Amino acid sequence: MSSLHAQQCAYFKDGLTLGYAARISALHQFDQALRQYEERLVAALYQDFQKSAFESFTTEFSMLYEEIRHAQRNLKKWMRPQRVRTNWINWPARSAILREPLGVNLIIGAWNYPVLLLLQPAVSALAAGNTAVLKPSENAPAVAAVIEEMINTNFESGHLVVVQADAKQTQQLLTLRWDHIFYTGSTKVGQIVYEAAAKHLTPVTLELGGKSPAIITASANIPLTAKRLVWGKFLNAGQTCVAPDYVLVHESVREAFIHACISELKRHNYTLGQNHYCQIINHRHFDRLIALLDPEKIVFGGQSDRDTRFIAPTIMAEVTLADAVMQEEIFGPILPLMTFDTLENAVTQVKALEKPLAAYVFSTLKKEYQKVLSDLSFGGGAVNDVVMHLSNPNLPFGGVGHSGIGAYHGTHGLDCFSHRKSVLYKKNWFEAPLKYPPLSHKKLNWIKKFMK
Ligand code: NAD
Repeated sequence: MSSLHAQQCAYFKDGLTLGYAARISALHQFDQALRQYEERLVAALYQDFQKSAFESFTTEFSMLYEEIRHAQRNLKKWMRPQRVRTNWINWPARSAILREPLGVNLIIGAWNYPVLLLLQPAVSALAAGNTAVLKPSENAPAVAAVIEEMINTNFESGHLVVVQADAKQTQQLLTLRWDHIFYTGSTKVGQIVYEAAAKHLTPVTLELGGKSPAIITASANIPLTAKRLVWGKFLNAGQTCVAPDYVLVHESVREAFIHACISELKRHNYTLGQNHYCQIINHRHFDRLIALLDPEKIVFGGQSDRDTRFIAPTIMAEVTLADAVMQEEIFGPILPLMTFDTLENAVTQVKALEKPLAAYVFSTLKKEYQKVLSDLSFGGGAVNDVVMHLSNPNLPFGGVGHSGIGAYHGTHGLDCFSHRKSVLYKKNWFEAPLKYPPLSHKKLNWIKKFMK
């Protein structure tokens, strides 16, 4: 590990990643490698948790190709100095922001979207002119092995390399001095990463999780709300960081909403197998999820099979903040429902928990969704939809408070892996005498006149 780290430091110091030609060719190489390995990665996703080819393409590869294309199209523009206005005190001069790569990065991925969450930040790192060590999650081992072969046979290890490491070995990696650490995973491990980074004053991007609410008001279009919400909640068997974790529904539409969700769930074929529903990633998570179920509160679903790591989409009603299912991020196919009478009350219930990664509001009244958007702090979200905000490369993707630090995607990804260097270009043909000695009252009065 330390020899790979040293190789990357030398590669970066030699300036091999900096120019436009090096960056665009790295993006091209990356794109070619991904096309070459796509089929094997899809097979590996199926091997790890029976993720279907359809879901694999729509939720992992499509966004990755989009990210590469976006970077290729915008790279020249991104690399130009960004002119900003110069204030009068610096006249005559011009000012600009220059993006420079941070240097040698450690990128740690999570298992739930094991291709996208490791490779999407890698695209931004390459576009921004960095080197990176990629550490896939050991919880999706088949995908990790294919990604290792794909990257390590197509890139010089000084530029981009994959290392396999379990939790203990990852902590060793964290003791090295990186220029930036990009971590995706739980808030608990995020704290370990942050602590290790602090020893070297290394900047971090922490893409964490949390309990993301969906608030459904009495004015919502119930059938469409149920359709969108059921899709986003049970995608990837609920193992999605921005999935709606729980629902707060207005008491007057509670019954209608439950019925609409049930009829939507019956329309889908939530059984395991190719082009269906995927498994829970491992037995540890399976057991954790089963312990969150309260049989008395289940209004739909609840079936499970430990051997095949299958948990049917499950809806629980009459849930309160005191229930086990509300004590941690669910990260699985269980949807608890709570009710509210006034919107104020719904907002108060959400505020009782840490700031979430996402929040959703379903309403057809502007004053209602405006209230939710202004009263709640959350990473990102949607009005009348779930999950889809992260597919727009123009929106920064990241958390706030316990759901994360920093953001990426598109230009925001480039900023995440760059330092924005401020430069003042001063002209030589004029120099105002005000700031130089002799320092007199008269000069001070002049300065005060302009600056107060
Ligand atoms: P995980 O178990 O795959 O862990 C994530 C990474 O942390 C892995 O690479 C793992 O090797 C490493 N790791 C685990 N324990 C460690 C330790 N003690 N020290 C150092 N490294 C360690 O994934 P997870 O943590 O179960 O992921 C689920 C969480 O991630 C959820 O909370 C989810 O919301 C969040 N998540 C966030 C995003 C996002 O983009 N914000 C995306 C996906 C998942």
